[in-house]
Amino acid sequence: MRAAVSISGVDKSYGPVRAVRGLDLELEAGKVLALLGPSGCGKTTTLRLIAGFELPDAGTVEIDGQVVAGPGVNVPPERRRVGMVFQDYALFPHLTVAKNVAYGLPRGKNREGVVGDVLALARLEGLGNRMPHELSGGQQQRVALARALAPEPAIVLLDEPFSNLDATLRARVRAQMREIITDAGATAIFVTHDQEEALSLADEVAVMLDGSISQQAPPEDLYHRPANRAVAEFVGEANFLPGRMEGERFVCDLGAIRAIGGNPHGGEEAEAMLRPESLRLLPPGHRLSGSEAVVVRREFYGHDQLVELRLKDSGRVLRSRLWAGSTFGPGDSVGVVARGPAVVFSKDAGPRAVEA
Ligand code: ADP
Ligand code: MG
Repeated sequence: MRAAVSISGVDKSYGPVRAVRGLDLELEAGKVLALLGPSGCGKTTTLRLIAGFELPDAGTVEIDGQVVAGPGVNVPPERRRVGMVFQDYALFPHLTVAKNVAYGLPRGKNREGVVGDVLALARLEGLGNRMPHELSGGQQQRVALARALAPEPAIVLLDEPFSNLDATLRARVRAQMREIITDAGATAIFVTHDQEEALSLADEVAVMLDGSISQQAPPEDLYHRPANRAVAEFVGEANFLPGRMEGERFVCDLGAIRAIGGNPHGGEEAEAMLRPESLRLLPPGHRLSGSEAVVVRREFYGHDQLVELRLKDSGRVLRSRLWAGSTFGPGDSVGVVARGPAVVFSKDAGPRAVEA
């Protein structure tokens, strides 16, 4: 693999605030990475460290195999081959679209040709002479992306690029953005606190919590095999059930759930994570295994719904995601069956995958 960016052991503090600590992150050339984490966890600082707007207190940053920051090394931002797209786009208001895009390009050398190509790539043909305020939010964002891509950077960094767009526009704009980056063959890191955005757009997602990466993995792996409870809770909804391994099975309130993979330690106290869509509800009397519950609450979302249940034996509250047509409502008695996949977190080891 050829790493477009490689960060190792990076620390960065602002006075007493340790914004980034022991940060390791690597991204293969040609891939799109989502840097996902709650507000204040160090995402913007990470981008600024890569771009060269901040210097690490410790550790090294490499871009395309070259150390750009580290002990005794600090390559200035303009020589790092990094393209930036800022949250507010930061277009020059007094320059046309074409001039905004040409801004970062060296003089001479077929500048107009490159600008024309990049405008076409960003679906902005015919808009080169417009001023930024004459464009929609989505178009302005594509200008910012075109400007970042024009010099063919080793990596493009985008900080919360969709946060200024309303919900209906956002889904379309982000799909378009992803297409443009792919068409350009570019490598990109985009910052987001929106897990759905991260999962749906990126080749890989790096979950950042408290200044370092908790897990970096393709979206499906991250969702189905979170490395720990914190990642499981931050990415998607999760139910947690205490219990213990017995042979190949995890024994909990929902009965014995069959374990796959890993090396279960018998008897060890552990915790299993089940996604809401992994809990199946059955009318009373249809239950073959699992446990009995009462529906407490129902949230209808249109495309699906979330039903909150209380288990009759333990009183534990679980959430189940059901299709929109399902008619279980508050007060109904139901059977709950785990249909996997679920993940077991042991107290002293990493997660294990289990399946009902
Ligand atoms: P995020 O982008 O994930 O919301 P940031 O990287 O902006 O997080 O910030 C990480 C932490 O560092 C926060 O506690 C923030 O308040 C602090 N911080 C960021 N930039 C500065 C700065 N220039 N001076 C002081 N503290 C800062
Ligand atoms: Mg930020």
